[in-house]
Amino acid sequence: MSFQNPVFIPGPTNMPESLRKACDMPTLDHRSSIFAEMLYPALNGVRRILKSDVAEVFIFPSTGTGGWETAITNTLSPGDTVLMARNGMFSHRWIDMCERHGLDVQIIDVAWGEGIPADRFEEALTADKGHKIKAVLATHNETATGVKSDIAAVRNAMDAASHPALLLVDGVSSIASMDFRFDEWGVDIAVTGSQKGFMLPAGLAITAFSPKATATIEAAKLPRTFFDIRDMRAGYEKGAYPYTPAVGLMNGLKQSCDMLLDEGLENVFARHTRLATGVRAAAGAWGMPLCAASPDVYSDTVSAVRTPEGFNATDIVTHCADTYGMAFGVGLGDVAGKVFRIGHLGMLTDAMVLSGLATVEMAMVDLGLDVKLGSGVAAAQEIYRNTASTDLKKAA
Ligand SMILES: *Cc1c(COP(=O)(O)O)cnc(C)c1O
Repeated sequence: MSFQNPVFIPGPTNMPESLRKACDMPTLDHRSSIFAEMLYPALNGVRRILKSDVAEVFIFPSTGTGGWETAITNTLSPGDTVLMARNGMFSHRWIDMCERHGLDVQIIDVAWGEGIPADRFEEALTADKGHKIKAVLATHNETATGVKSDIAAVRNAMDAASHPALLLVDGVSSIASMDFRFDEWGVDIAVTGSQKGFMLPAGLAITAFSPKATATIEAAKLPRTFFDIRDMRAGYEKGAYPYTPAVGLMNGLKQSCDMLLDEGLENVFARHTRLATGVRAAAGAWGMPLCAASPDVYSDTVSAVRTPEGFNATDIVTHCADTYGMAFGVGLGDVAGKVFRIGHLGMLTDAMVLSGLATVEMAMVDLGLDVKLGSGVAAAQEIYRNTASTDLKKAA
């Protein structure tokens, strides 16, 4: 692997130099006011990126997976029922975590490549007259399949059933790269990590709670200590943590939020749409469909590309790494060997994406696939040259 090449795994993402440097802090007293000067702007920045006025943000030294645990343990009790769709490896893992915590998961299985079926959620919630279901869990962007789900539609399904369950959303591979509307969608908890849309090293679980979600914490009986938001809240009141925070990452997060808000959230989202459109055009030119079943679920942060029947898609990833020093994502779970993944979230430019597409093409030709060198690159070039980066909004 070459450190000069960009990475195309769908997280951790490429780091802008300024953010990498922001994380490189000398040791300082994390109970001093210097830390609070990083903490409060970071909490505020995250809230703004979530488009929320009401969310209370809690950040743990952890990863997205710790964010899942924070969400369920602070709001639920053993034996509670939760409703969730399984449409890829990440939703599968969150379900597994719930089951290991003694929750009763009502699983709606859908094909990997499909989004969350809001209509089936509405049926399940309408049928739940006694309100046994305490939370609806939703994966906004299934990183394994490159599928975006419609969280507003999930909220509408809950409202149509007049169901009081909480709405917990995994936004690990969407938040800060794709539009996320915490207040408008009536999200109760959002979860993400530092190493995807925020373009930082792994190490922070970033969560946001609605007032309705925080109102359940006393009744919630799942055991928790490290992830107890009551301790975190008490710490924040003093500008500190209940334990030692990841100081450098917090400084990085503060600057990452500034960077994203300076670019303008709508510009950030449009940039991702535009880069993704180029990647999709390349896959089309190779004659390879996406794992995502239809354009309405195409993710703007990751594309899972299906290779021809009988070919092991993982060979492309291995060959790119071994021969060209460039990293792509393998297929996971049900789609292992059937797809390879191109991550296009975080800090990326046209030129970086073109280099990734050119490298994949070389690997595909090396491995004997019927692909013409330059075909996918040319398709993406047409998208990028016709949608100037200075005119990002139009491109969306
Ligand atoms: C990466 C990812 C996770 C897991 O996050 P970690 O930071 O690796 O713990 C969870 N959900 C989704 C959708 C992801 O993309």
